[in-house]
Amino acid sequence: MPNSTPLQLGWEEWLSLKDLGLPAIKAKIDTGAKTSALHASVIEPFGPAHAPQVRFLIQPDPGDASLEVTCSAPIVDRREVTSSNGERELRYVIETTAEIGGLSWPIQLTLSNRETMTYRMLLGRAAIQPSWIIDPNASFLQPQLSYQTYQGLPRRKPVKRPLRIALLTREPRNYSSLRLIEAAETRGHVIEVIDTARCYMRIGAADAEVHYDGEALPRYDAVIPRIGATITDYGMAVLRQFSNTGAYCLNTAGAIGRSRDKLLAHQLLARAKIAMPITAFAHSPKDTKGLIAVAGGAPVVLKLLSSTQGKGVLLAETRKTAEHLVDAFRGLDANFLVQEFVEEAGGADIRAFIVGNKVVGAMRRQAETGEFRSNLHRGGTASPAKLSAAERDIAREAAKVLGLQIAGVDLLQTSAGPKVLEVNSSPGLKGIEAATGKDIAARIIEHLETVIRPLARQREPLL
Ligand code: ADP
Repeated sequence: MPNSTPLQLGWEEWLSLKDLGLPAIKAKIDTGAKTSALHASVIEPFGPAHAPQVRFLIQPDPGDASLEVTCSAPIVDRREVTSSNGERELRYVIETTAEIGGLSWPIQLTLSNRETMTYRMLLGRAAIQPSWIIDPNASFLQPQLSYQTYQGLPRRKPVKRPLRIALLTREPRNYSSLRLIEAAETRGHVIEVIDTARCYMRIGAADAEVHYDGEALPRYDAVIPRIGATITDYGMAVLRQFSNTGAYCLNTAGAIGRSRDKLLAHQLLARAKIAMPITAFAHSPKDTKGLIAVAGGAPVVLKLLSSTQGKGVLLAETRKTAEHLVDAFRGLDANFLVQEFVEEAGGADIRAFIVGNKVVGAMRRQAETGEFRSNLHRGGTASPAKLSAAERDIAREAAKVLGLQIAGVDLLQTSAGPKVLEVNSSPGLKGIEAATGKDIAARIIEHLETVIRPLARQREPLL
C-alpha cells in the first residue's frame, strides 16, 4: 500500500490491471460501494476444489466489442450479492494488482456480468486507502491511459496466468498423457482429459460448442490433441470445433491432416526441397516393373500407407520379391508407396522432437540385428543423439512446412546428408524422455505459455 503523499482521485480514473492482461481500463470510483467489481462475460470456474480458478472475458473498451481479453485468476472468495433488481446471485472474487499513476496495490474484485454497467470497472471503498482524497466533482486527476495500448499486446510478453487446457485423447493413462498432465499441473495450469470419440458438436451460426456426456464443454485456452491414427478424420473435426470456440490448438487440425496424409506430406516436403528417400506412390498400378524402377529398383522398401510402428513396412531385396509384393498389395487394393532402400542408414534412424520450431531432444534408434526397421515397438534400442546443424535444420524445416508446432521428425543419415523419412504429429514422449533424460512434457507446456496471448486470436482457416 502506498503511504507517502495521498493519492487524489476523481470520480473516474484510468487503471492498469496488468496481471490480468488489462493495461488500461476506465473505472468509476464508487465510495458508495464496498467491493470493487469488474464487468466480465463467459465467467467459468475451473480447477480442483482446493485451488479453484476462474476464466472470463473482458471487453475493456465499451465502444469496441471486438477488443476482447481472455483472463484467468485464482478464486479467493465467493460472495452472494443482491443486484439492483433484487435478485441474489453468487459472484466470484479474485485478487489482483491495480496500478494508478505509478502506485500499485492489491485489490479484490467481484466478477459480474451486468450488461447495464456503463463502466467496465467499479473501484469500491475496500480498495481505497482512507488517506486518499476523492473529489466527486473531478475526473481524471491521475494520468490518462488509452485503449490504444491494446494494439501491440499480442506481440508483447504473454501474461502469466493459470491456463485451462484440454488434452484430447482416447488414452488418458498412457505415458504421454500422464506426463503432459503432470507437466501442466506442475506449472500451475489445469488440464482436463477429453475423449475425442465422446465429443459431439453443434455446428451452427451461433457460438460454436463441443458437447460431451450431455453438456456443452467450457471454453479452453488450449487444446493438446493426441489423436490416434484410427480416428484422424473425426478427431480433426473435433479439433476444428475447439478452434472455433477460440481455443489454441497445439497442433492444428490442418497440420495434423497434412502430416497424416503421407502422399500430401511427401508432396509438400518435396516442394520445399527437403531431402527424402526417392519415393513412388501408387494406388493400383498395372505397371509393376515401372513403379519399382521409379523408386530406383531393388532393393526397395514397401510401405502400406496405413502403417504405424513399422507394421506395414517391408524390405524387398530383389526385383522378383519387390514385384511379388507390389502385386500382392495391389490384390488387396491397398494404398502403398515404394521407396529407395537407404542401406547405409544401417538399420538406424534419428528422431528429432520439435516443439515450437526448436529441436528439444533427439535420439538415435538402432534396429535389432537382422532387422532394418528401428521402431522401438520392433525391438529397436534408443540412445541420445547429438544432431548436426544440417540435421537440426532439416527437422525444423520439415515440421514448419507441414505447419506442425509439435512434431517427431524421423531422419535417415546418409553420406549425402540427412533425409526425412516421416513427420509425426503426435509423437510419443516415452522413448524420447527415456533416451534423453529430458523433460519434454514441460517444454510443450512452456511453449503453450508463450503462444497463448490475452487478445482474441485469428482463428485457423478451416480450408
Ligand atoms: P512407420 O510409420 O510404420 O514406423 P516408417 O516409414 O517410419 O514406418 O519405417 C519404419 C522404420 O523402417 C524406420 O524407422 C526406419 O528405421 C526403417 N526404414 C523405413 N524406410 C526406410 C528406407 N527407405 N530405408 C531404410 N530404412 C527405412
